[in-house]
Amino acid sequence: MSFICSSCKEEASQLYTDTIVSSLFIVVGMRFHGNHKFTKYDNVTLEFEPTNQYDENAIKVMVDGIHWGYVAKDNNKCIGDLMRQYPKYHVSTDRIMNYNLSTKLDFEYSQNICEKCSNWVLGATLLGIYPSPSDL
Ligand SMILES: [Zn+2]
Repeated sequence: MSFICSSCKEEASQLYTDTIVSSLFIVVGMRFHGNHKFTKYDNVTLEFEPTNQYDENAIKVMVDGIHWGYVAKDNNKCIGDLMRQYPKYHVSTDRIMNYNLSTKLDFEYSQNICEKCSNWVLGATLLGIYPSPSDL
């Protein structure tokens, strides 16, 4: 029996499913939505807003169902693609960074990848150069 690696698309006899990949993104617009300051304890969720008149790729950033900001325009296409591709994603606040007008959060998802890619991704994540070699 063989599987297809979701990273290199090659066949592998065994896939690793516990590889958590994380991709940093910026949240903006809080000053228009109650000046929320995100904390480590926030349960952050993301929601597409296809009706947004300024940006069809807009993604709302919510905490407990309340809309506090948006994924920055520079990041929202990439994060949107990841949301569709990895619906079981999780937004982590472990490495949260708050700036004056923006906040940096982690988009985390697990991949089914082969051993070779697993080694590569772990190294790349540590260096902060993931998502994928083709993006570089
Ligand atoms: Zn692979």
